[in-house]
This record gives sequence, structure tokens and C-alpha cells, in this order.
Amino acid sequence: MDYKNLAELLFPHITKTPEEYEAAFPQRDLPEGAKVTRLGPSPTGFIHLGNLYSAFVDERLAHQSGGTFYLRIEDTDDKRYVEGAVEIIINSLRFFGINFDEGATMEGDMGAYGDYTQSNRGPIYQCFAKGLVAEGKAYPCFLTADEINAIREEQEANKQTPGIYGKYAVSRNLTMEEIEAKLAEGIPYVIRLKSDGDMSLPEDQIRRVQVEDAIRGRLDFPANDQDTVILKATGIPTYHFAHVVDDHLMRTTHVVRGAEWLPSLPIHVELFEKLGWELPIYCHTAQLMKMDEETGNKRKLSKRHDPELSLDYYRNLGYHPAAVREYLLTILNSNFEEWRMANPDADIDEFQFTTEKMSTGGALFDLNKLNDISKDVLLKLSAAELFDFLKGWADEFKPELAHLFEDRKYLEKILDIGRHEAKPRKDHIYAQQMVENISYFFDDMFKMEDEFPAETAEDLPAILKAYLDSYDHADDQSGWFEKIRQITETMGYAVKPKDFKKNPDQFKGHVGHVSTAIRVALMGRQQSPDVWEIQQILGEERTRERISKFL
Ligand code: GLU
Repeated sequence: MDYKNLAELLFPHITKTPEEYEAAFPQRDLPEGAKVTRLGPSPTGFIHLGNLYSAFVDERLAHQSGGTFYLRIEDTDDKRYVEGAVEIIINSLRFFGINFDEGATMEGDMGAYGDYTQSNRGPIYQCFAKGLVAEGKAYPCFLTADEINAIREEQEANKQTPGIYGKYAVSRNLTMEEIEAKLAEGIPYVIRLKSDGDMSLPEDQIRRVQVEDAIRGRLDFPANDQDTVILKATGIPTYHFAHVVDDHLMRTTHVVRGAEWLPSLPIHVELFEKLGWELPIYCHTAQLMKMDEETGNKRKLSKRHDPELSLDYYRNLGYHPAAVREYLLTILNSNFEEWRMANPDADIDEFQFTTEKMSTGGALFDLNKLNDISKDVLLKLSAAELFDFLKGWADEFKPELAHLFEDRKYLEKILDIGRHEAKPRKDHIYAQQMVENISYFFDDMFKMEDEFPAETAEDLPAILKAYLDSYDHADDQSGWFEKIRQITETMGYAVKPKDFKKNPDQFKGHVGHVSTAIRVALMGRQQSPDVWEIQQILGEERTRERISKFL
């Protein structure tokens, strides 16, 4: 068989040579050790935590080493394409502090290694497929869907591995004349890799391949034997082929991707070998898992069942990006928490991220842990920063909250309550929760969330009237509390809760019940930060108004 002829026959329109592309995309001029990484999302419009998790690894590896991190749009599966998806990807990642140096942007490509959208790279893939055909390393396969089904059934019946390999790769043996005849008839065909692997050999003669995965260490597996499709009948590449061609030509040094690609790694290794290219360093990340509340077992996060898989979830609720970053690092690198304890105030980028400290089993995702971390992260922000963050979130997601931001001083004081004590309050978790938490400071959002204590039911108007009459906004905290005690005593309640507990028949209740009644009148809640402090922020007028409403 004259393979060169065959290649010309199949790809007459491809006039460029692989050498020309090699020359057009030379090795990058980067300092020794600089890493080149990429994110290759499919533009489905759904950007998830797994993307962010991977992107984080890519970003850290590139930027810690003075390298380059680029965005490539993997849209060979055009059925799933969603308009505006590129914008969603770029914006969502940028929000979480992940910025690309190169690649697809909203204004088109940026960088010298494009095109960065796979659907625009057809001729490049075809050129390299043509090269493989010309060297006898790939061939046209005319098997129809029915024939492939029949092969699969036969393999199932014989308990053999499914696929096109060995004796099932019948198109390997076609003569030039047969191929010409089929082409003349217009029979569709795919291009398959002509694999060297042979699994029918005795176990100890099957070639094995070793790959050093930067996360998993040495991987050892039997060489591929499948004649994998590299170009579909439409001329569009499969993921396998596009990955190899793109990561080579774009001079990627580290391929960070999910563990779901591990089973096809043997195919990629053979493709790199056949093309005569050096393998990039693979980093197969762990699957994101969660504890299933019903079964108590770990399971993969699923798009259908777990809204927290979508990055929109965190943006809509208003998680601070610094909290999400901080949390992701705790699940990405096992030594991060230790580092954070030793360096509580250090910038997160000072942490030396390494692939060796990544887990290889499932990475357990836990919203409660994220919330705990978020509390600590938000505690480090100033009241002004909290205000700006909350406003930015509301502007985007809750424009109806605009009035919260009219009085900066007022809201800053609210957000700062109890945060400067020796044991500071950690009330803030995410924007939506913060707004709910502080809603009682705003008359239009005030709601009676809790009831008055039953112990005060009969005396309520009297207690509140006495409170209002004695109220002096200028009282300091102890002066204010002294008045509560007086009211407590006068109304027949115990000033010390333990007296009430000892002799419940002698009192109507205790000081806690009285102050809770005042709290509920002021805030609609039984639990809140210090009442005196809240009144100071509410101001005299609003304080009096709220109490008066219950008289
Ligand atoms: N487009 C692939 C995906 O969405 C990217 C895999 C890779 O990073 O190589 O999973």
C-alpha cells in the first residue's frame, strides 16, 4: 500500500504540512521550569465546581512558576454549544480570582498559539491525521453503525473487550482499489489510529506503559490496542486527537484534568508516540465527592441532585470569592490548613501549591466546612470592605435591596457589630445570609420571627411601658442594664435566673424573660447581639418607635 497516495486521496484539500505547523508554533520562550497550563471547558453554559477546582490547579501551577495559563474552548461536540458560554466561563472564573494570560477572550483570541477554539482548527487536525495516514499509522474505516453493533454483540457473546482492534479492525486490510471504490460510492468513513497494541498475546508479552502522573505518581498500564477514532466522518476530531494535537502545538507542559480521563490515557500515550511528540506531564485530579445525607456514603457530586455543583450557586448566594478560594485550597492541598494556622494573615498566594499534596481518592466537598471558613475569611475584612462586597452582590443579584446602601455609616456599623471583641462574633457567612441576619435594622424588612416569652405574656404592655418611660439613649451599657433590673424587680420577676429556678412559684419569670421581651419588640427575634449596642445603632427615634408599637 502506498500510504502517501492514500493520504492524498483522503485529504486532497490539505496542503500544509505538519512541519509548517511545528514551525508556526515554536517552543515557548519561557524561563526554565515555567509551566504552561490550560483549561479546556466545553461551552455548555454550565460552569461547575469541578471546572473551578481544575482551573485553580492550572492557575497556581502556571503563575507560581512564571508560566502561562490559557483558555481553550473545546466545542467539537456542537450539539451542546450554548450561546454566550465563553463569556460565562471567563466571568465566573474571573470572579473567583482566576485570570487567563492567553487564549479565547470575549473580544477574540489573545496569544500566538491559536486558534483557541477547537471548531476553528479543523484543517490543523486534518493535517496531522493526514500525516499519520501517510506514515501508515492511521487509516480510513468504513464500518457502518450496524456492522459495529454486530461486532459488539459478537464480542459480548465471546466475553471479549468491546471495540475495534485486532481481527475486528477489518478496514485495516482494504486495498487501495477497494478504498477508492468506496470513496467513489460516497460511503462515509472515519479515520482510525492503527494501534500497535495486542491484548491477545500472553499476559507477560503484552507491552506495558509507564506514565509519571504529577498527582498520582507512577501509573503502569497495558499499552492501548484499540483502533480509536481520531477523526469522525464529519472531519471533526475526537477529544483524544484534539487533546493531543492542541496540547502539543500550544506547548502545554502540564495537562490538568479529571480522573475520568485516566481510562483513555493509554490512547493518548500511543497518539503522542505515533506523532513523535513528547508527552506533557499529566495531573489527573480527584473526583469531587460529597457525603450523601441519606445514605451516609461518599458519592460523586451530580449536576441533577446537587445545586452546589454549579458556580452560579455561590455567586447567587453571595459567597465571597476569597472564602471559596480559601476553601478550595483546603481540599486541594493537604498541608494548606496547617500552613494557614502558621500564617493566619499571609496572602493566600504565598502558599506554595504542589501537585504532590493533592489527594488521589475523592476530594470531599463539604458546604459546612466552606461556611466555617467563610466566617473566618469575612472576619478579616473591614466593615467598609464588607459593605462594598455586599453592595456589589446586591447590585448584580438583588437590585431591590438598593436602599440598604443609602446610609453607608449605618450599614457599616451594623456589619461591624461584635467583631472587635477578644472573642469576636462570626455572624457573616455569605451575602444572602448576611442580609437575612441584619434585616431587622431596616423597617421595611422587619418581621416578627419569634414570639414573646410566655412568662411575660400578661405583663408585656406594662414591661414595655416601663422600659420606654425609663429609656435614656445616653445611658451607657451598665446604666441601661441597671434599669432592666429595676423593671424586673418591680414587675415581680427574679433578677437572678437561679433564684427563679430554685423558687419558680415566687416569681413570674426572671431577668432573661424580661430582656427577651424587649429584644423581641425591638428586633422581632429572641436571639441577637447585645441589645444596648443595637439600640445605639438603631438610634433613639427608631428604638422608641419599635417599643411603642406594642403598647
Ligand atoms: N473538554 C474536556 C472536558 O470538558 C476537557 C478535558 C481536558 O481538560 O483535557 O472535560
